[in-house]
Amino acid sequence: MSDRNQWKHDPRQVLRAGAGFDVRSFDRGGTPGWSRDRATGEAAMVERGADLSELQERLYADGRTGGTRSVLLVLQGLDTAGKGGIVRHVAGMVDPQGLALASFGVPTAEERTHHYLWRIERRLPPAGRIGVFDRSHYEDVLVVRVDSLVPEAVWRPRFDEINAWERRLVDGGTTVIKIALMVSYAEQGERLMERLDRPDKHWKFSMGDVTTRSKWSAYQEAYAEMFGRTSTEHAPWYVVPADKKWYARLAVTEILTRTMEDLDLGWPAATFDVVQARAALQATMVRPPA
Ligand code: ADP
Repeated sequence: MSDRNQWKHDPRQVLRAGAGFDVRSFDRGGTPGWSRDRATGEAAMVERGADLSELQERLYADGRTGGTRSVLLVLQGLDTAGKGGIVRHVAGMVDPQGLALASFGVPTAEERTHHYLWRIERRLPPAGRIGVFDRSHYEDVLVVRVDSLVPEAVWRPRFDEINAWERRLVDGGTTVIKIALMVSYAEQGERLMERLDRPDKHWKFSMGDVTTRSKWSAYQEAYAEMFGRTSTEHAPWYVVPADKKWYARLAVTEILTRTMEDLDLGWPAATFDVVQARAALQATMVRPPA
């Protein structure tokens, strides 16, 4: 394993949404736990990506040999916060066969006929995989709340319901890592403007992004309560400053890698006699069969 001590502080400690976490004063341009420069950060990310890739292979091997463990990385964040970049640049460092990607947009007509967790459950990672959720069940306490899609009496009990549901998930062998990418108001404005400035980005823009942006304060409030109510021991929230994309990607890489290191995954033992297999193979090395 490469050197994880380049971090001044464990990002899982400094980014964890604990008691007293304050969304409003949170510096979205900061690099908590990392005091080196961007170039060093980018190099460290590549190195840790190699570690992550090996850990993913161990997890996959575990799943192929009867293990029940999986990992679920939940990504939340407003438009332009960089969820897609995490999928591409962090999850993209491991073998795609080991991933189970899912993104959750406006529920379809069919999905709307079911409980809000129905569509989520169907996309949970199987044993041995790293699931990555681009948006998640948390939309059901975020956009649903801000846009009053259901009354408060319906969305408020969901905090407890989600905690209990995630508890069962964890008990079943899934390690749940929840990442909220928090971009500043100014940076979001610039990123949206860039989408308008560049014809190759127009496809990413929708007028709805401007409407959502106009509800900034309501979203901040919704995120704040979500952290307060659902950052649990078994499934904590990590709040990642996202104005510096290189930092956000580095931090998520490190959180995911450290969490997987803690799973202490070995390589599955051979279920055959290795000495005998070697002798049998050796006998074939001389020439092809006639
Ligand atoms: P993105 O904008 O992330 O590229 P999509 O356009 O497919 O992806 O869908 C995202 C939109 O879906 C967001 O505006 C989000 O708020 C909305 N959405 C996600 N889940 C729900 C939900 N449960 N209820 C209502 N809207 C939702």
